[in-house]
Amino acid sequence: MAWIWMVFAAGAILLWAISLGRILSSTSPSCVPPTPHFMPPLRGNRMSRNVLLVVAHPDDESMFFAPSILFLKSKGHSIHILCMSQGNADGLGNTRKEELYQACDTLKIPHEQVKVLDHPKLQDGFHEKWDHGLLSELTMEHTQLWAIDTIVTFDSYGVSGHPNHKDVHHGICKFLHEKGQGNIEAWELASLNILRKYSGPVDIWLSSLISFSSSKQPIYTLVNNSPSRSYEAMAAHRSQWVWFRRLFVMFSSYTYMNMLQKVNM
Ligand SMILES: [Zn+2]
Repeated sequence: MAWIWMVFAAGAILLWAISLGRILSSTSPSCVPPTPHFMPPLRGNRMSRNVLLVVAHPDDESMFFAPSILFLKSKGHSIHILCMSQGNADGLGNTRKEELYQACDTLKIPHEQVKVLDHPKLQDGFHEKWDHGLLSELTMEHTQLWAIDTIVTFDSYGVSGHPNHKDVHHGICKFLHEKGQGNIEAWELASLNILRKYSGPVDIWLSSLISFSSSKQPIYTLVNNSPSRSYEAMAAHRSQWVWFRRLFVMFSSYTYMNMLQKVNM
């Protein structure tokens, strides 16, 4: 029986290697399917967009959104980050805030385009319920401050199911519904089931198939041709860089690709 397991393990390693080769073969971050319809230039002379990534905690941007950040930057878009909390659940808020700025150095996002909030009603925790109206207000404030035209954020499951991630999504929906007035385009990161989430680069085949076959509601796969950048950005979060997060970053498909779809209100 042992040989069956050996064949299975060898097959899994081979599939991993081929998938990683497929991802690394590109010379720049790419979009599947390759299309000019994903975030096309805006009206007027503006070729680049002002994109706001809205997250809940320092490290969300590196752990989950690095492929989106790297792709959008490669297209010349300007990335801004609004982090709704300092991630102070373990009393490390100030440290984690600084670590986010260090991660942004790695991702080449200027510090003046990053804001980490510390609002008493938006504290990090599984049992903290965040007010969607307050999240909407804060989002509006920062979209005006940075002349934002595009938002990227969590979907309704929030990748890991963390309640703070889900609340960020609902806060953005409220903002778009009440204040966005159709002027702002918003995209959400598709949450994957546990098998796909931990399949590392192997998910590229299924993600690509889904993206190629989605027509009514397009879903785009953004491929990170340089996964080591995700690893470096996450390593900047030194207080969080423990063994299980190192493993997570290695095995998580969010290190290698992001599937983005329009926020459905
Ligand atoms: Zn988080």
